Amino acid sequence: MTPPLRVLVHGGGIGGLTLATALARRGHRVDVAELRDGAEALGVGIVQPSNALHVMRRIGVLDACLAAGFPWEVLTVCDPAGATLAEIPQPRMGDVPAANGIPRPALAKVLSAAAGEAGAAVAFGTTITELADDGEGVDVTLSDGRTGRYDLVVGFDGIGSPLRRHLYGDRYPPEYTGFANWRVTLPRSPGVRGVVMSAGNLRAKALLTPITEELMYLGSVFAEAADFRPDPARAHEQLAGRLAGFGGPIAEAVARVTDPASVVYSRISQVTVEEPWHVGRMVLAGDAAHASTPHLAQGAAMAVEDALVLAESLDAAGTVPAALAAWEERRRPRALWVQALSRAVLRQETGTPTTPEEDELLKVGVPGAAHVLVRPY
Ligand SMILES: Cc1cc2nc3c(=O)[nH]c(=O)nc-3n(C[C@H](O)[C@H](O)[C@H](O)COP(=O)(O)OP(=O)(O)OC[C@H]3O[C@@H](n4cnc5c(N)ncnc54)[C@H](O)[C@@H]3O)c2cc1C
Repeated sequence: MTPPLRVLVHGGGIGGLTLATALARRGHRVDVAELRDGAEALGVGIVQPSNALHVMRRIGVLDACLAAGFPWEVLTVCDPAGATLAEIPQPRMGDVPAANGIPRPALAKVLSAAAGEAGAAVAFGTTITELADDGEGVDVTLSDGRTGRYDLVVGFDGIGSPLRRHLYGDRYPPEYTGFANWRVTLPRSPGVRGVVMSAGNLRAKALLTPITEELMYLGSVFAEAADFRPDPARAHEQLAGRLAGFGGPIAEAVARVTDPASVVYSRISQVTVEEPWHVGRMVLAGDAAHASTPHLAQGAAMAVEDALVLAESLDAAGTVPAALAAWEERRRPRALWVQALSRAVLRQETGTPTTPEEDELLKVGVPGAAHVLVRPY
């Protein structure tokens, strides 16, 4: 389709800002409505695997991501005591690095700047209050009182997606997996020059991930009751208790966690929208459509792939609904494969029984998945 299309992106997170940048660079007129008051994201880190970095290059921000983060190439696997079991070079997609650790606030800043420079209008503290799709366009009212008519509305509004609720009612609530992620940002240990993963027979896994020259984060996953929340006064002690069976670099990192407020606790949930992700001129993408557990570090990578492929599908198709159908055909198998394998890895690592289908998927394993995912998206 020839630009300019009028597009409203609901949610200015990782996927939404990537889409806004990709579309605005093509000459489309893009508004982003983001609920948060500013570009700040929760202050932990994230891994951008090679396929995500490939997308970053296509939207013109690869160098900015690498400069703000810590590119790395080798995954180190240790036993719980900290002895190195394997050093596994990670595959590259084309000639971009294998991976980049980056603080989430830094990534949000890079993507916000890119969207603005490309010409997208990002409104913070704003959400949709009313919308109606009449087949020819979508009439929208925003919480700041503005109204507009759009050719396309994209719900990149995360795992709790209000647009998903609008389209499908309560049919796809986030499903708690029974596991939660504990993360703490710390000064980077000099030896941590790529992800260091400690796993074994403890029914738990702990990771150290470099995110800048100065910083890394300690992350670990444990089974937690749905209503459990860390004690604000002693979250660091609760984390240390859970990681007591680990030695080596994990134990050294845990010993440096002294501030309970530095501990970020996230319940791990997932969402699978089984019906089509697009309804008329509205579509869900990223976590809103297919949030997965973080076990392949691919959730945001899938969101940014969704974004770029959506922009490409709009380039190629004759109408918005045709573009959405072509986009979903390309995206659904890959995103759901990541989701299924991520969940199988979670079960395997935590000693939870797996299904025969999951056993089949697990033959690929985490190192194998990286090779699959550097194939074209
Ligand atoms: C513990 C953990 C670790 C992870 N680690 C990795 C990793 O290393 N690598 C990786 O690729 N992925 C990782 N992920 C997954 C990744 O964070 C998500 O998949 C990714 O952020 C999804 O992007 P998104 O744009 O779809 O949603 P989000 O980034 O969540 O953005 C959604 C946006 O919508 C906004 N919003 C919500 N409601 C409204 C509303 N009503 N109106 C307007 N805006 C709204 C939100 O404020 C937010 O800015 C991890 C996830 C978890 C939980």
